[in-house]
Amino acid sequence: MSEEKDVVIIGSGPAGLTAAIYASRALLRTLVVAGRTPGGQLMITSDVENFPGFPDPILGPDLMVRMREQASRFGTEFLDDDVTAVDFKKYPLEVEAGGEKYTARSVIIATGASALWLGLESEKKFMGKGVSGCATCDGAFFKNVPLAVVGGGDSAMEEALFLTKFASHVTVIHRRDRLRASPIMAKKASEHPKISFIWNSVVKEITGDKSVNGVIIEDVNTHKTTKLDVKGVFVAIGHRPNTDIFKGQLPLDEKGYIILKEGTYTGVKGVFAAGDVHDHRYRQAITAAGWGCMAALDAQRFLEGRD
Ligand code: NAP
Repeated sequence: MSEEKDVVIIGSGPAGLTAAIYASRALLRTLVVAGRTPGGQLMITSDVENFPGFPDPILGPDLMVRMREQASRFGTEFLDDDVTAVDFKKYPLEVEAGGEKYTARSVIIATGASALWLGLESEKKFMGKGVSGCATCDGAFFKNVPLAVVGGGDSAMEEALFLTKFASHVTVIHRRDRLRASPIMAKKASEHPKISFIWNSVVKEITGDKSVNGVIIEDVNTHKTTKLDVKGVFVAIGHRPNTDIFKGQLPLDEKGYIILKEGTYTGVKGVFAAGDVHDHRYRQAITAAGWGCMAALDAQRFLEGRD
């Protein structure tokens, strides 16, 4: 059992690291359990153009490195391991990670969300061999070949637009006849000469031998299937909150997002949440950072006995 912390922050995306900056700067003994793949979703993003303070785009991973350095400067400790269990029924709270138990007077959960997949066997089979969930990570492997993007939200539009840098053509396959994406992203994608859309259609199978050579698409109205020749399939159909380890410890909604009681307070003594783990509405780096700040201030007030 190691020394008791004032704040243990679980997760190291913009929410977790902003919480760490605020908590450690307030002289609270702060530990960030950053996970085995630290940095959150911005680690698989390329240019970030909408984070205030960066008139020139900054790469997502660079932004996360800077946030981490900023938190370290105020004395935040980091553990690059995953949390394996928590016990919020006890107080002080308990968090287990890297084979060790940490006790904490407060915990901020900032574990974010993960990408969703179609759930096809062939999707698993061709993962890394033509199937990807991250255009910025894998797009450059697909030069001058046709690609497909599945989904109709902002992520799908962003992936499709990014892939036009490399691909000969990008086909967006969407299950409805209308995009969920914001009008500006939808317009950009619709007007792009290298992007076309297949509406009211779902991917039934991903075909190939050693790597992907096509997708079998079914029209949801006529049930007619067609094959589209593509060398890569980028799945961009949304996210799921990373809350499995909190089941039974905290109130979660039907999709697994943490339900907040007031501000960032979860309703469990000393436990706060910040970012995409509870916010399925805004899901931006800057809003996650804002939530992180709020959670640190709420934790600080709680520790001072003010709330
Ligand atoms: P999203 O908005 O939830 O969109 C998911 C899309 O995938 C929807 O079009 C959905 O179809 C489709 N879909 C879901 N499950 C599917 C399945 N099993 N098979 C086929 N299609 C499926 O998720 P997102 O695009 O990741 O965006 C999440 C949030 O982040 C949004 O608030 C978005 O605005 C934000 N975001 C913003 C930016 C930006 O501003 N640059 C970039 C990325 C994300 P239906 O439409 O039929 O439900």
